[in-house]
Amino acid sequence: MPKFEGGQYRRSFGRTLIIAAFAMMLGYYFSSAGTGWFSSGPVVRNFETMNTYGRITLPEKSGVTIDPELAAAEAEAAVARVNTLMSPFGDDSDVKRLNDAPAGTWVSVDPLTWRVVMEALRWHRLSGGAFDPTIGPVKRLFTFDGLETDAMPADDALAEARSRVGADKLRFEREGMRLSWAVDGMRLDLGAIAKGFAADLAMESLLRNGARHALVDIGGELRALGGKPGDARKPWRAGIRHPRDDDVIERFELVDGAVATSGDYERFFLHNGVRYEHIIDPRTGIPLTEGPASVTVIHPSSCLAADALATTLCVLGERDGEAFLRGQALGLFSSGVRVIMLLAEDGGVRRVEITVDGEGGVTVESAPASSN
Ligand code: AMP
Ligand code: MG
Repeated sequence: MPKFEGGQYRRSFGRTLIIAAFAMMLGYYFSSAGTGWFSSGPVVRNFETMNTYGRITLPEKSGVTIDPELAAAEAEAAVARVNTLMSPFGDDSDVKRLNDAPAGTWVSVDPLTWRVVMEALRWHRLSGGAFDPTIGPVKRLFTFDGLETDAMPADDALAEARSRVGADKLRFEREGMRLSWAVDGMRLDLGAIAKGFAADLAMESLLRNGARHALVDIGGELRALGGKPGDARKPWRAGIRHPRDDDVIERFELVDGAVATSGDYERFFLHNGVRYEHIIDPRTGIPLTEGPASVTVIHPSSCLAADALATTLCVLGERDGEAFLRGQALGLFSSGVRVIMLLAEDGGVRRVEITVDGEGGVTVESAPASSN
């Protein structure tokens, strides 16, 4: 885009020539772009957000009806809005205001925060408490810095923190979209669901601008629209990381839908050589030490659901996770879902794939993982 900056304006023949040349170039630009006065892409917009990276990709012929650079910028702004409202820091954060409020004080929140909190409470209820967005007080007792540590919280400190966890102690009032704590010192933590929601919100923005092909990636949580258009209408490609090295262990294609992964390699600490991951079992208050090394969820339409489910299945583990998927095959997962769990076992990796087919059917396959 040309930038017009202030400065001395000197009327001269040379200047007129430059303007004429510029007008000709602009005319060429108008006629070659086809879709208006802007280029048709591709656009890849990279940014930092929510403690991770963000990337919005609009391929050529994405379908957007405004400048694709602007469409990508608007989508980034949607992600930034989620971060501002739901990060535990910052003066404009609903989560911080709620976390600073004493028990019994009502805090009005933005409709976006309300939407995510209501979803988080629904996941809490349906997961039997495995997903708990109030895990904050317990999480604060640990430092997930990837290092070996001798120090574990004392039993009484852990018990005290646990008494301030429990999504049933978060009161809500639809009228006015207000939240309040039943107990002092509770903390909302939307870290297991907000990135997925941000990807959905970015995609909503792109859809409003006419997109038919786009990819949103918020720290590995993906929301895809259409395929990657070109001669062959290629699908988007995504990968699953080997949980114990940096290689990609598996690749798959995606046309429409969402992907989220939770893994024990993302943030953890070591104690007596045991890996404690940043997902905490609300039943014990202890960071997970066993269960799947990673869970990848492929959902047909919602990155929020994929994100919440990936975390939930880490807590539930293989057996209870399968039971949960079966139990919700006609409920939460009535539109179908695919789950790939990688379990680090006996020096190798076992791969469990569970598919809910959208008609209530569930299939499970378990086999040693082989890289492809
Ligand atoms: P994710 O990477 O999406 O699995 O989210 C993990 C993050 O969610 C953690 O860093 C915590 O902030 C938060 N969290 C930890 N344990 C739980 C849990 N059981 N339920 C909900 N959120 C959790
Ligand atoms: Mg999650």
